[in-house]
Formats: sequence, C-alpha cells, structure tokens
Amino acid sequence: MISEPIVVTQHLFHTYQSGAISKDALIDINLEIARGSCVAIIGVTGSGKSTLVQHFNGLLRPTQGSVLVDGIDVGASGVDLRALRQRVGMLFQFPEGQLFERSIFADVAFGPQRMKLGRHEVRARVIASLDTVGLPCHEYGKRSPFDLSGGQRRRVALAGVLAMLPHVLILDEPTVGLDADGRAEFYTYLRRAQELQGVTIILVSHDMAEVASLADQLFVLHDGHLVMQGTPRSIFSESERLRQYGLAAPPLGELLALLRTGGLAIPEEIF
Ligand code: ADP
Repeated sequence: MISEPIVVTQHLFHTYQSGAISKDALIDINLEIARGSCVAIIGVTGSGKSTLVQHFNGLLRPTQGSVLVDGIDVGASGVDLRALRQRVGMLFQFPEGQLFERSIFADVAFGPQRMKLGRHEVRARVIASLDTVGLPCHEYGKRSPFDLSGGQRRRVALAGVLAMLPHVLILDEPTVGLDADGRAEFYTYLRRAQELQGVTIILVSHDMAEVASLADQLFVLHDGHLVMQGTPRSIFSESERLRQYGLAAPPLGELLALLRTGGLAIPEEIF
C-alpha cells in the first residue's frame, strides 16, 4: 500500500466488444501509482498498455472494477471528464505532428486558453513551461515550430501539455524516432518538469534503457495481465521471466552509461 497514491485500479477488467467478437484486453488489474513518482508500463505490442492508460484520462471506462485518478472515480456515471482531463495530460506518439500554430507561443498557449484562463495567467504559464523544456520564450516564443529540430518540436509539444499544469502526465513512447541526443535532452527536461511541477509521470514504453533511466517503478503487462511490478532493478534482475514476456533487460553497457549520466559514480573499469 502506498500512503498517497494518485492512481488506484481495483479488479479492473476491460473487454472490447465488436459484434459477436469480444477481446479481454485487461484482466483483473490491481495497481497503485504514488503521487509525484515516475512509473513505466511495459509489455509487447497487444499486451494492453494503451488500453490501461486510456482509463486514466477517461477515454475508456472499466468493463468491471474501478479506476480512481486523483480522487476521481473514472467509471462513475456522471463523472466530470473535463475536470479529469485537466488533471491528466497526455502526450501521444509523435506529438509534434499536432503542432499547427504560426508561433511557438501560440502553440503552447492553446491548451491554457481552452481552459478559459486569463491572458496574464496564460502568458505566465507559457513562459514557465517553455523555460522548463529549455526553449526560453524570449528566444523561441515568436518563432515557428517548424523551424526547430525534431527533438525541439517534441519539447514544444511537451510544454503545451505542461502549461495546463496536469497532476498526471501520460507519455506514449515519448522518444520514439529521436536520435540519442534528442532522447537524452527529452529525458532531462522531463525530469525537470517532475521536479518543478511535482507532476506524476506515466510512461508507456518499449525502450528498456529509457524506462531504466527514468522510472521508479515498472509494471509489466502480458496478454492483459499485470505479471510483474517493482523497481527497474528488481525487474531487470529477473531476466529469464522478462524473456517469457517477450522483453529483455537493457544491454548492460547502455545501462551503466545511463546510470553514470544520472550521476552515479560507477568506476570506468566496471563493465
Ligand atoms: P498495447 O498498447 O500493449 O499494444 P492495446 O491496449 O492496444 O495493447 O491492445 C490490447 C489488446 O486489445 C490487443 O489484443 C488489441 O488487439 C486489442 N484491442 C485494442 N483496441 C481494440 C479495439 N478498439 N477493438 C478491439 N480490440 C482492441
């Protein structure tokens, strides 16, 4: 039991029904996510990851069982989906594809404006969130998002979500398609967002090195079941079981490099 979980699922089942065909995509999922933590949901394609996270912002409702997010019962009739979606931000795959405004400022301001905040509040949020992702407003605000590199554009998309001050941020394969530098930068700014805003981060990822470097806690899904949960260290020490679920612990060299980047003093002779 976690003292102050922000997400709790109890006996969560989800069944997709189309005509006579039904598919049990989630089977009796029980989990808790601590407020302010960074967790990752991992598993091969089709294991149920996106079905699970779509319950966290109310895109899907439980077929059975319950999902509580920041005190909101997602399955309740009459649930305030607007309130839920303001608290739960979502960055989809390749989010830079959704940038469309003429300026970076306008793009980041889009979400807060839709929340009907005052002009000064919108401006303050845009400035703060562009700062968080390392693209200071005075330098980048007036530029077009299309002048930026792929990695920078993705950080603009991240700033747009952060500007809504979500309590929970869900990221689906956040660094897919970026080069090594773009990935490292994205992680840096994500960590900064976590520190500055205290936002709880939920990653959906295939990339074991990514989850090893970022997440405090991992949840492994396999065929709709939650089959393992624990720290990256404990999960990766069970490499045989991971292989059964179609996953592999990150290559050791890569892991050591990441831990060193993260500030651990691991002697160079250790490989
Ligand atoms: P993942 O995100 O791990 O790839 P999904 O949650 O997308 O897994 O899918 C879990 C299972 O549910 C898969 O077998 C998938 O084919 C099935 N599924 C997903 N979406 C639908 C849908 N809209 N209708 C029917 N089956 C679906």
